[in-house]
Amino acid sequence: MAFKNYFDEKMYRIQNTKEVKEIQIQKLRKNLRRYYDQSMFIKMVLDSQELKPETITIEQFRQAMPLMGQDTVRGQIPESEPGEKGKIVTMLSQLVGVDPYDYVLMCATSGTTGEPTPYFFTEEDLEIMPRGLARTLYMVTHGNIEAIHQMRCIQGFGLSMFGAGVPLVWALMRLGVGVVPVGAEVGTERIFKFAEKFAANAIWCTPSLAEYMVDTNLQRVRDIGFKQVFCGAEPGAGIPEVRKKIEEGFRAPLFDGMGLVGGLTLTSCEEKQYAGMHHLTDDMFLFELVHPETKEPVPFEDQAIGEMVMTPLQGISIPPGRFSSGDVVQIFLSPCKCGAPGWRLKMAGRTDDMLKVKGVIVYPASIDGVITGFVPRVTGEFRIVLDEPPPRVEPPIKLKVEYAAGMKKEDLEKLEKEIVADMHAKLKVRPKIEWLPPNTLDRAAMKTKFIEKAYEQKKK
Ligand SMILES: [Zn+2]
Repeated sequence: MAFKNYFDEKMYRIQNTKEVKEIQIQKLRKNLRRYYDQSMFIKMVLDSQELKPETITIEQFRQAMPLMGQDTVRGQIPESEPGEKGKIVTMLSQLVGVDPYDYVLMCATSGTTGEPTPYFFTEEDLEIMPRGLARTLYMVTHGNIEAIHQMRCIQGFGLSMFGAGVPLVWALMRLGVGVVPVGAEVGTERIFKFAEKFAANAIWCTPSLAEYMVDTNLQRVRDIGFKQVFCGAEPGAGIPEVRKKIEEGFRAPLFDGMGLVGGLTLTSCEEKQYAGMHHLTDDMFLFELVHPETKEPVPFEDQAIGEMVMTPLQGISIPPGRFSSGDVVQIFLSPCKCGAPGWRLKMAGRTDDMLKVKGVIVYPASIDGVITGFVPRVTGEFRIVLDEPPPRVEPPIKLKVEYAAGMKKEDLEKLEKEIVADMHAKLKVRPKIEWLPPNTLDRAAMKTKFIEKAYEQKKK
């Protein structure tokens, strides 16, 4: 069947080993050789350092290649000006040296934080995606190829989205997986209806949509009988409370995932305590960590935290640059208890929500991790009170934390000491805690918004 055409079991097994590192350097050199001949940009970078694609080391590559944010090289879709129609297509095709008519699929990001960023695919780029996705499906089914064949997936992400939209539909189809491309744009009623009528047994969507389905129509969710929930495109699926709610609501395991474009694939496993996402494409992507401020390299070691930088090792539409999506992650190199291959990563925050407490870098998501560890003695809701605009925070960092119903006032002092000690051990900061009764904080706010901007009220 189709799955076997795309699944490389040997490569899957050697993830996070010395063997795959040798493959990485060979593929990087091969990819640079190809671009050297057809892309002015890559030729310019290598020539300026007198480097040759055939002999370059990973270290030399990292020093020579500038770090690029999502927008720098790919460019954003410019405002349409007269006479500039399609300029972006010409620009991108020239950058990577392809015929603009070789693009067979043209998508873009949603552009929630500005203008949409374009992502174009040639046939070669499309063929790479199922190779990565196959490994995710193999891992989550514990190698049960018949179970993969019997999946019938609702595609509930925005259909126009660059990775999770049509590319996901296409990649699932190539793997012989049934797919129902409903898309998020049409609303949940239509998602429910299609899932019921076509007897879907899995769903791909954002964690917010999965939560919304549970909140608004739990019975229907249960009656459909989903066997797997695949979430991505936003954090959330890695947050214990959100996971619990979706898994209990769907009565199915939730897999937190990332990737697709360029073949990238990362997926979480079924470990009870969230173990992060397994990276299953060491042979397709080179990962490194840099300091979020100085951009200096951070050693790629067990439990290290840093800004995530990726270099694609194949494909034609994305050149072998060093790309950062602005995500700050923590990596885990030790084998996971679940037995699946690959090193793992957990989202720690974004470069733009970083806080600095006397030089110590702290992310709201890491504070959330510590606070959540004290449930059920706390509700899990909290706010970081900032007296001045981030990232600088004058110590001690101030937190408003809700204690749980039934907690006695006299026990709070002891609990506060425990939280402060735990946070100091894990994050190297000692917070000052202000206790709030349960349900004081606004629940409607997004789960990821942990900041109370006290400095804005001061100005008024
Ligand atoms: Zn695992």
